[in-house]
Amino acid sequence: MAKNNRGNGLNAMPNHGRGTCPICGRTGAKILWEVKDGDTTIKVCKLCRKRDPQQAKV
Ligand SMILES: [Zn+2]
Repeated sequence: MAKNNRGNGLNAMPNHGRGTCPICGRTGAKILWEVKDGDTTIKVCKLCRKRDPQQAKV
């Protein structure tokens, strides 16, 4: 479980795990954490994984 989102494992991710976070809109952030947004699961950056998606939406 440790360091799941670091190191060589990122190379297997699309775009090496980077992209634009759907919640905070940061570009080039690592989008590796899944949070539930209603019925669906979305991938967000590490800052947004602790936020409530309902409140944090841009
Ligand atoms: Zn974010």
